[in-house]
Amino acid sequence: MRNTFLKERTARDIDGQVAKILQGLGNPDPPIRLEDVRDLLSLDLRYFSSTDDGLIRELAHNMRVAGKQILLRPTLLLDAIKTFKLAALYLPDRKRIMIDSSMPPIKQRWGYGHEIGHSIIPWHNNYMLGDDQQTLTPACHEQLESEANYAAARILFMQGKFESGVSASSLNFSQVKALSKAFGNSMTTTLWRVVDFLDIPAIGVISGHPKRILEDFDPANPCKYFIRSKPFCVQFDHLSETDLFAIISGYCKYSKKGPLGSEEVELIDRNGKRHVFLFETFHNSYDALTLGVYRRPGTFAISPCTH
Ligand SMILES: [Zn+2]
Repeated sequence: MRNTFLKERTARDIDGQVAKILQGLGNPDPPIRLEDVRDLLSLDLRYFSSTDDGLIRELAHNMRVAGKQILLRPTLLLDAIKTFKLAALYLPDRKRIMIDSSMPPIKQRWGYGHEIGHSIIPWHNNYMLGDDQQTLTPACHEQLESEANYAAARILFMQGKFESGVSASSLNFSQVKALSKAFGNSMTTTLWRVVDFLDIPAIGVISGHPKRILEDFDPANPCKYFIRSKPFCVQFDHLSETDLFAIISGYCKYSKKGPLGSEEVELIDRNGKRHVFLFETFHNSYDALTLGVYRRPGTFAISPCTH
């Protein structure tokens, strides 16, 4: 799955909404407290557990009383939660966010941010949005989901506060780790956000362990997520997930978690020019996370002498 970029105007509109929130909170220091955002926007938060049948039933019952949409079709919500493994949802008529409490806290935080995102984008208010585990990840093909993900990222990384902390020329994985800690967000979302934002060629790859291949590994589709910065999309569009995974597998060690390795790699752009990137891979005990950032022009290829 690859990252997509919103149209500039849409991104600007959403940024305007997020700026209002940050201002409303008095531009606090990171990490942002989502309880404060909830209070500011007068949102209601409820938890449910997808592993607790009784709770879901009770919830469906309460909402049958409270929400019009649920009133009309009470079994809809119950079915949706169970069938699509909903991790979070937003009910616009109640201004209510609901989160599955059985998700790990760091994932709940992303889900929470994502649903706040739906709530602040005016044109999303006509939908009742349930989000399964798939759309809750920072990638989604659907427009509404991309917009809510963008809003979530801008809230959780606090716009300018994040941007001023990213130094493109010396960016490396320890900076991603430090940003993840400072903003209280997972390393995966931080890696995603950093690469998405960079104005130099860069990639982020989330994959299984490159040296400890699991049975369900698909060589044709080796990466869970392949994130590219805008300049990378322009200059290196011909490079695929498979190409990059092969490079990553080349330098990674067998160690189970922590740093798996790093290497300076030469990539050839669409005009045949070579460029040096620094690749670093880290295993967080769930996934292997790779950051690849442009460093400098590469060595010139010498044309064979024809005289
Ligand atoms: Zn959503």
